[in-house]
Amino acid sequence: MSYFLLDDYANMEPYLPGEQPAGKWIKLNANESMLPPSPAVKKIFDEAEYDGMGFYSDPHCHKLRIAIGDVYGFDEKNIFVGNGADEVLAFCMMSFFRKGMKIAFPDITYDFYRTYATTYGLDFKQFPVNDDFTINVDDYVNYDGDVVLANPNNPTGLAISVDDIERIVKKNPERMVIIDEAYIDYGGESCVPLVRKYNNLLVVQTFSKSRALAGARIGFAIANEDIISDMNKIKFAFNPFNMSTLAIDAGSAAARDVDYWKKCINEVRRTRDDFKKDLRKLGFKVIDTETNFVFITHPNYRAEYIFAELRKRHILVRHYNQERIVNYLRITVGSFDVMLKVLYALKDIVGDPDESTYK
Ligand code: PMP
Repeated sequence: MSYFLLDDYANMEPYLPGEQPAGKWIKLNANESMLPPSPAVKKIFDEAEYDGMGFYSDPHCHKLRIAIGDVYGFDEKNIFVGNGADEVLAFCMMSFFRKGMKIAFPDITYDFYRTYATTYGLDFKQFPVNDDFTINVDDYVNYDGDVVLANPNNPTGLAISVDDIERIVKKNPERMVIIDEAYIDYGGESCVPLVRKYNNLLVVQTFSKSRALAGARIGFAIANEDIISDMNKIKFAFNPFNMSTLAIDAGSAAARDVDYWKKCINEVRRTRDDFKKDLRKLGFKVIDTETNFVFITHPNYRAEYIFAELRKRHILVRHYNQERIVNYLRITVGSFDVMLKVLYALKDIVGDPDESTYK
């Protein structure tokens, strides 16, 4: 730590992203998409104007905001875009949260909320999820601060209903409720329509999963127009050109290719459902995920052992050194052929489900 770092960051805890190994790996540790992005995106990249790159991108990102607005039935005034959902969440926190402000989220969820809250000194509360990893909605309904929830949750994959979200939002119009719908396209019900009814709800989504553009870094928020205008003002006071021209153009093309997007979602869901069935045959307990990943544990083998064995076979999945889920693995659902390879590897590792030795 340098002499110059502000004391404010004494408790800084940067988020630890999943490993990005070099070389030939089956990479199933970051819930990325194995399908290519829309062919319309390829056209954008192929025809991108080399000369045009000398000019700044549109700081208002009109084209992308209009495209997203068209898909979800909102005006561009209701859409904020950023460099991935993470930046959108960060702009939201930056705009509406000050040191010491109260925010709640589950003990088992996307770790970015905790690392951000720790780094920026928010007064955060982590409500424990139930033993079956479901969220106790009343914890949040009755809480006297703001709320951020991933729905469906990461890493469990479990979703809560729009009715339950509405109960949290409705209870106190003076608290902000941020619903992170990074995985909503694969299942669960989006609460985007509630934005028309409530001025204290902000819904965040991403192009990193179902639109296969994690590398392009495109995320967005849908909320009441005053909230979006506030976030844009903060953006203009921090990084006005936060999206590159390539991201704006590629994102607009991907958003408008609704047929391809739906086709990809269906393909991942089909592969996921087959994979879940096969995992159960191998003796795994599989949480009923609504996402592009599965969250699993095995009665006879420690998750850490399975993780290491998969790693030896150049298959990378996610293992958490967190007490309540230390015996679970999160595996992204890739293409059908890749999941077949993973299944063979798992079969090799856990063998006969009746085997009783614990490894
Ligand atoms: N929210 C959740 C729940 C996530 O799991 C992730 C990515 N792993 C993000 C947000 C960040 O998405 P992006 O790539 O758009 O920054």
